[in-house]
Amino acid sequence: MTFFRHALDRLNPPPERRRWLFVPYDQLSDRIGPLEREEPGQVGIVLVESSWKAARRPYHRQKLALVLANQRHFALEQAERGVAVRYLAVDRPYREALAPLAAELGPLRMMEPAERELRSDLAPLVEEGQIQVVPHEGWLSTPEQFRAGAGESPPWRMDAFYRRVRRDSGILMEEGKPVGGRFSFDSENREPWRGEPEPPEPPRFEPDEVTREVGELIESRLGRHPGELDLESLPATREDAEALWRWARESCLEHFGPYEDAMSRRSSGLFHTRISPLLNLHRLLPRQVVEETAAAEAPLASREGFVRQVLGWREFVHHVHRETDGFRRLPDRDPEVAPQPGDGGWGRWSGQTWGAEDREGGPDGGARPSFLGSAGPLPPAFWGRPSGLACLDGVVEDVWREGWSHHITRLMVLANLATLLDVDPRELTDWFWVAYQDAYDWVVEPNVLGMGSFAVGDLMTTKPYVSGAGYIHRMSDYCGECRFDPRRDCPITRLYWAFLARHRDRLEGNPRVALQLGSLKRRGKKRRAEDRRVFERMRERLEAGKELSPSTLA
Ligand SMILES: Cc1cc2nc3c(=O)[nH]c(=O)nc-3n(C[C@H](O)[C@H](O)[C@H](O)COP(=O)(O)OP(=O)(O)OC[C@H]3O[C@@H](n4cnc5c(N)ncnc54)[C@H](O)[C@@H]3O)c2cc1C
Ligand code: SF4
Repeated sequence: MTFFRHALDRLNPPPERRRWLFVPYDQLSDRIGPLEREEPGQVGIVLVESSWKAARRPYHRQKLALVLANQRHFALEQAERGVAVRYLAVDRPYREALAPLAAELGPLRMMEPAERELRSDLAPLVEEGQIQVVPHEGWLSTPEQFRAGAGESPPWRMDAFYRRVRRDSGILMEEGKPVGGRFSFDSENREPWRGEPEPPEPPRFEPDEVTREVGELIESRLGRHPGELDLESLPATREDAEALWRWARESCLEHFGPYEDAMSRRSSGLFHTRISPLLNLHRLLPRQVVEETAAAEAPLASREGFVRQVLGWREFVHHVHRETDGFRRLPDRDPEVAPQPGDGGWGRWSGQTWGAEDREGGPDGGARPSFLGSAGPLPPAFWGRPSGLACLDGVVEDVWREGWSHHITRLMVLANLATLLDVDPRELTDWFWVAYQDAYDWVVEPNVLGMGSFAVGDLMTTKPYVSGAGYIHRMSDYCGECRFDPRRDCPITRLYWAFLARHRDRLEGNPRVALQLGSLKRRGKKRRAEDRRVFERMRERLEAGKELSPSTLA
């Protein structure tokens, strides 16, 4: 008997005469849904820990610890409040765990899961009436608002949707007009960070016995999973979640806007809040963070910048995922679907197989669109093998240490490089899915397939987010530590031109890349041939796990 089980048994009220809810691992809140409204003494909740789910992909250890520690603490918090808790630890899909319980306790109610994977796993129980689905109350907008704002059919644009939800919600609005006279202050929020102001240190949390036990479980039973485990950086209780949000509000928000796009080796997070893992578990509620940000004392450009991320982008990507059934339904043609979850290149990097038997028998591995036809493997550099590119190696190191990095590093270093190298967008998505603490299908797929790799064309962004060394050099301090010179011989710039040349036919006609394609035409045959040679050489060496240097590319 573990410490957690003892503690739960001690606190758990009698289970008789209760209405039972199934609470998925990412709905850990009693401030939304039936759990908010019903008397604790009359309700019971079922929570499930499934080693089958953990084994489906080589998830970062910190992510596994985050989910398990929060779910266990949530169980204890609810029992303390008088809610009866049935806590199952199983090695099967959720539907197999829940079917006998529904037979014993009567139909279970559940807020609709955010994850398509879980919806798909539980669909048979929903069809048979063993699970009754009620709306998920964690979202801040409805499908109707999405269609009214962004349009009935793609292409969809975030800005139009965002303006609509700002108007409807009244957030940062005054007499029907946006506060400050504009809906977006994005153009003011693009400063590089040059060492000042000092970025805040993220809070540390003293792990209690429950969290330590989760850590031991991961080391002993899930030790094959990659990534560092650092329990002290892990918010696990309701108080920890509030402490993280207090820190974000008091220490990050003021400078959030101007340095939103900056990157630095000296601070992995700069002024980013690191709340996405907790928002996606509903330990912090999107409504609370948006309302408190709007009312905070920070400069308007920072407050608006942050509100746009949560009320705008986060809601937008969720709707796009829902509308396209996880990109299985696209306007031109429906893409292939991977039969099983991918491992994001783990097998190729480690030389081992990620238990194929664990991946069978569950939901499929997701859609594999590739607008540009990219299908290459993800280089082992994404798993920590040095590439010689200081920007890539630095961010990858952060990711395997923290299970997190901020938005611009994801977009303009990791996804940028993978896209320039023609990596298969599905493999890249699977890598993000396993490596990041905040990744779930509804959010990682739109961000990587839709935004990071342009795998669904202009469905949700106007153009591919790719760049040469210029952008990275301007927005970061990475180049100072690199063996390449961003102005002279950085191969990422060559990759960029080679990318435009390879995909010119697909990109022609897109007004947002017309200028770049015009410059490409003027680039001259010899330089284009050299771009192509560098691309091929780079891809070959990176795929083989070899480092790059000016001499190896000469
Ligand atoms: C290639 C790529 C992959 C990504 N994968 C994920 C993912 O798996 N899970 C995830 O939650 N976010 C993902 N994002 C979005 C974004 O990078 C993270 O939400 C953010 O970096 C989280 O750190 P933070 O909490 O410090 O965010 P902050 O910069 O402090 O922003 C505040 C909040 O805004 C929300 N947000 C901002 N942008 C987005 C966005 N594009 N999509 C959804 N929410 C957003 C997040 O909830 C975030 O916590 C991805 C972005 C890219 C470019
Ligand atoms: S010089 Fe090029 S490879 Fe090196 S850090 Fe800068 S952008 Fe990255």
